[in-house]
Amino acid sequence: MKITDSLRKQVIQRAQRRCEYCQLHQDCSVYSHEVDHLIARKHGCQTVLSNLALACLSCNRHKGADFATIDPISEVITPLFNPRRHLWSEHFMLQQAQIKGKTPIGKATVKILQFNNSRRILERQVLMAQGRYP
Ligand SMILES: [Zn+2]
Repeated sequence: MKITDSLRKQVIQRAQRRCEYCQLHQDCSVYSHEVDHLIARKHGCQTVLSNLALACLSCNRHKGADFATIDPISEVITPLFNPRRHLWSEHFMLQQAQIKGKTPIGKATVKILQFNNSRRILERQVLMAQGRYP
């Protein structure tokens, strides 16, 4: 099912125009944030508000159709952060311009979505200096 304009508007409004993964505001991004399927359609989930999140281009590209990963140490299948089920502050914290995972879910998401590659850290440093992040 296609994401309708009305659904897109509701997703953007609910997220207050911030990426629901890395918290980057739309106004601070050159590229338009995208509507992400939390659980991809190919896994049988639907295009409904409860399965959608607003994601910046970087987060959405790295996430792709993933919704879980394998913890390299425990080898346990670990879900990625789901903004409809999880609270950001319970799973992540900001340390300078780096986003650190506080839980296995947070750590898995930081890794898969590559929150802390050098370009993204630099971008956050600049925005923080301007008082525009988080
Ligand atoms: Zn993001």
